[in-house]
Amino acid sequence: MNNIKLVVLGAGSVGKSSLTIRYVHNEFIDRYDPTIEDMYRKVVEISGDHFMLEIMDTAGTETFLAMRDLYIRNGQAFMLVYSITSKSSFLDLESVKDQILRVKDMPVSKLPILVIGNKSDLENERQVQSQEAEKACAKWGLPFMETSAKTNMNISSAFECLVREMQKKTLGKNKSSKKKANFCHIC
Ligand code: GDP
Ligand code: MG
Repeated sequence: MNNIKLVVLGAGSVGKSSLTIRYVHNEFIDRYDPTIEDMYRKVVEISGDHFMLEIMDTAGTETFLAMRDLYIRNGQAFMLVYSITSKSSFLDLESVKDQILRVKDMPVSKLPILVIGNKSDLENERQVQSQEAEKACAKWGLPFMETSAKTNMNISSAFECLVREMQKKTLGKNKSSKKKANFCHIC
C-alpha cells in the first residue's frame, strides 16, 4: 500500500480542520480550536488502488510560519485552501504555492497541488467568483474545486482528486477516473 503525506495549507479560519475532519470522521464541528495542528490517517481505495493517507492539518500560528518549510519538505501532496467568503485568503495562496515550488525545487508539473475554495454553502457572502479562481488556477497550472465542509459538498472528490494528481505526477500512473470532480480540469 502506498503512503501519501498530504499537507493542508491556507489562511486561518478557511476551514482546513473542518475539511479534514469531515473527510476523516464525516463530522462537521462548528468551533474547532484554531491552534490545533494534527495528523490524521485514512485508508482509501481510489481507482482500484489502496492508499494510506497521512493528512497534516496545519494551523496558522507564529510557530507554524517558521515551520511551514518543514511541513512542505515532509509533504508529498498539498491542498491549498481559501474561503470563497474571503478574498484575502485567496490572494494568500499564491505565496504558499511559490513557497512549495521553492522548497521542493520542482516545477508545478511535478507537484500534486490542489486549490480548494471552501465554504461554498455561503453563496450570499461570496467574495471570490468561481471563474476568477478558475482562471488564476489555470494560469498557475493547478486544478481547482469548490467544497463545503458544512454540507459535505465535494469533500471526498477533493481528496481523491489530489491522490490522482499524485498518481499522475509522481507515481507515474495515469488512470482516467470514471466520475469527474466538479470544476477540476486535471483529474
Ligand atoms: P481552519 O482555521 O482553516 O482550520 O478553519 P476551521 O476548520 O477551524 O473553520 C473555521 C470556521 O469556519 C469554523 O467556525 C467552521 O465551523 C467554519 N467552516 C469551516 N468550513 C465551513 C464550510 O464549508 N461552510 C461554513 N458555512 N462554515 C465552515
Ligand atoms: Mg484548523
